[in-house]
Amino acid sequence: MEVMFCSSCGQEMETRDVDGTLRRACTKCSFVHWGNYSIGVGALVLKEDKVLLVRRAQEPGKGFWTNPGGYIEQLEPIEETVRREVLEESGIEAAVRGIVALRDQPRSIHNLYVAFSMEYVSGEPTPDGMEVDAAGFYSLQEMETMNVAAFTRWLVDVALRGRSEGLSVDRNPVVPLNGYGLFRV
Ligand SMILES: [Zn+2]
Repeated sequence: MEVMFCSSCGQEMETRDVDGTLRRACTKCSFVHWGNYSIGVGALVLKEDKVLLVRRAQEPGKGFWTNPGGYIEQLEPIEETVRREVLEESGIEAAVRGIVALRDQPRSIHNLYVAFSMEYVSGEPTPDGMEVDAAGFYSLQEMETMNVAAFTRWLVDVALRGRSEGLSVDRNPVVPLNGYGLFRV
């Protein structure tokens, strides 16, 4: 669907050449509609050789076991989002180790999913009773008889059999870069 009105100032949009590509752009202000995107985050929380899984209590994917996760918020650093989602869904405190996988899904709302490896800190797995109705740490062997979502199976393989630590949080960048979340090899 074509964007008719500017989401910044409310004025009419027009189709215009922006650096060689036709895009919807505002006739009054500098707003350009670049596209529709969403960004998801997921947590692979490890405790020894087990991974934290939750069972979805809602559609989509009701009844499937997945890793905890959610969608980013406008002004919340993604590291924060993933910690919060884990705590909310499962009652587990976990610390970010790094980014170990990405999933790109180009479609009408282009989705990027960022998977974090996380270390268990404290807490007993407790489902929130809303989004999820069960939570626990499970080994690969235990997962064999569980209804684990396909994408989660892939992520668990990354978490348990990955050959790299992935991108780590850079807390002391060589130049001051305030306001950024920085992850590096
Ligand atoms: Zn505008």
